[in-house]
Amino acid sequence: MKIEIRNLNQIYRNGNHALKDVTLDINQGMFGLLGPNGAGKSTLMRILVTLMKQTSGSVFIDGKDLHKNRREVRKILGYLPQDFRFFTALKTWEFLDYSGALAGLRNRKERMAAVDALLEKVGLFEARDRRANRLSGGMKRRLGIAQALIGNPRLIIVDEPTTGLDPDERIRFRNILSDLSQNEVIIILSTHIVGDISSTCHDMAMLNRGEVIFSGPPENLISSTEGNVYNISVTPEEYELMKDKYHIISTIPTDIGWDVQVVSSDKPPYDAKVIPANLEHAYVYYMEKITAGNENV
Ligand code: ADP
Repeated sequence: MKIEIRNLNQIYRNGNHALKDVTLDINQGMFGLLGPNGAGKSTLMRILVTLMKQTSGSVFIDGKDLHKNRREVRKILGYLPQDFRFFTALKTWEFLDYSGALAGLRNRKERMAAVDALLEKVGLFEARDRRANRLSGGMKRRLGIAQALIGNPRLIIVDEPTTGLDPDERIRFRNILSDLSQNEVIIILSTHIVGDISSTCHDMAMLNRGEVIFSGPPENLISSTEGNVYNISVTPEEYELMKDKYHIISTIPTDIGWDVQVVSSDKPPYDAKVIPANLEHAYVYYMEKITAGNENV
């Protein structure tokens, strides 16, 4: 399966131009969509899940126009929206059973088997009789992904799934997603958390203010940042002077003051050593370039 997004524009009624000429190819496996709040990620997700029609441009799924084939697309789609909430007093398994019925699983025996398999997969089997609205935040999110997965969708879209989760739950959630990507499916993961992408996605795009500012494998983003990440040992006085001038990624206390990691196009005039770049550095580097008005990275 493949998704081709071509020159997509979304202009809301109030004039907000939320997507600007977005063109992307998405292939099998896990695709990360990274960008700060307001970048246009949810807008793109809402179009992909057929909840909204774009102002202009097209989306093709296996060559078929998304908008003209909404019913077929919905059959292969699993969606975990950003604001997934349920106020249901149903038990966890009952909620999933209900989701299965909505997804078109009519045969009760098959549906129950799917419910049990999914409860097991997302680690909620023990909690199957607990009321869904009494689950912890992380468990609710896992129930959210389970409801998105029932009926074996081939296109799975998850919008900001790890926001607000503690680190253990975040890792657990990522592992569930990367297990899924072993199958022949497309998973689109939208997030503003770099760690979600670095540990799971083989391909990605970065959005900023509605524009695609990078697309390709995360390694390419990282390699274009190499040589621009520095470790600098500074005294507390030097730190005070530099802290507003450079984009500081981290600070570690040392005997003389601080070891500071910065991302910068120019070598800082301190005892600065180049260190290997990671995806977080690359994200900051790109965003800085863009906000500085230099888009020719
Ligand atoms: P993200 O998911 O990356 O945070 P969104 O797609 O939610 O970004 O928003 C992109 C832009 O579109 C923002 O400027 C946001 O304020 C605007 N926007 C989102 N939804 C609407 C709406 N229903 N009406 C008007 N503007 C909107």
